[in-house]
Amino acid sequence: MAIVVDVPAQPIPPRPYRLAQRGARPGVSTVTVGDVSFGDGHTVVMAGPCAVESRDQLLRTARAIRASGARVLRGGAFKPRTSPYDFQGLGREGLELLAEARAETGLLVVTEVMDSSEVDLVATYADILQIGSRNMSAFRLLQHVAATGKPIMLKRGYQATIREWLLSAEYVLAQGNDRVLLCERGIRTFDAEFTRNTLDLNAVPVLRQETHLPIVVDPSHGTGRAELVPTMARAAVAVGADALLIEVHCDPAAALSDGQQTLSTEAFAALMEDLRGLGGYLGKPVA
Ligand code: PEP
Ligand code: MN
Repeated sequence: MAIVVDVPAQPIPPRPYRLAQRGARPGVSTVTVGDVSFGDGHTVVMAGPCAVESRDQLLRTARAIRASGARVLRGGAFKPRTSPYDFQGLGREGLELLAEARAETGLLVVTEVMDSSEVDLVATYADILQIGSRNMSAFRLLQHVAATGKPIMLKRGYQATIREWLLSAEYVLAQGNDRVLLCERGIRTFDAEFTRNTLDLNAVPVLRQETHLPIVVDPSHGTGRAELVPTMARAAVAVGADALLIEVHCDPAAALSDGQQTLSTEAFAALMEDLRGLGGYLGKPVA
């Protein structure tokens, strides 16, 4: 099936993000982490709770998403919360729980690093380092994470243009680290009445033209509402995303953060079944 929007044949003129730009490499880059490849023509699904809360919560969720076909476990140990009084994450203990879940399930781990002082600690545990939306333009942090040599998942700043986002990716690439994933997670617009953010799916085909880097879509933060997540996850696959990042919890109603946008393990299992059908139809099977 060739209905996924793909790359135009003509070369694009030089861009300020000279290493990230489409012509800098032949074709689309594949970022390989352990036994998982992003950008190789499969759809990779990353899933897990917003935050690591307890051993029981994490292991139950990890086992379930693994059984449904996810390849990467997400979960924040260091959480960037709007209020300093909200749950800030378990820190090092959370990282240890992620490592335990990885050892048991074989899932890779993606987790956020918020501050330069914590880069070495988080890099000891994570397979992929996540830079959150609020830190997309923390250029020193980008240079520090790049220097670990670990793959970096760079979330789009919620007020950032695509050009600014690609220039932030360029900070990582310019350090000699070429394993960068771009994650669209919704931007802030004038209309937040029914959704937390506006998931910018335009960004997917635009990025495909502008850059060789693999593209991730996060419909959880992109909508802020669990009931909208399956539809927008399907839309993200249809528009050509290489991977999805989805919040899943064994008991969403009890989640300490982002419960309203979090799928239950049962809803996630049903979504994965749908995505397998859709990915197969589009020629981009779920990995
Ligand atoms: C998250 O993935 O839980 C997160 C905090 O995302 P963002 O940085 O996109 O808000
Ligand atoms: Mn979250």
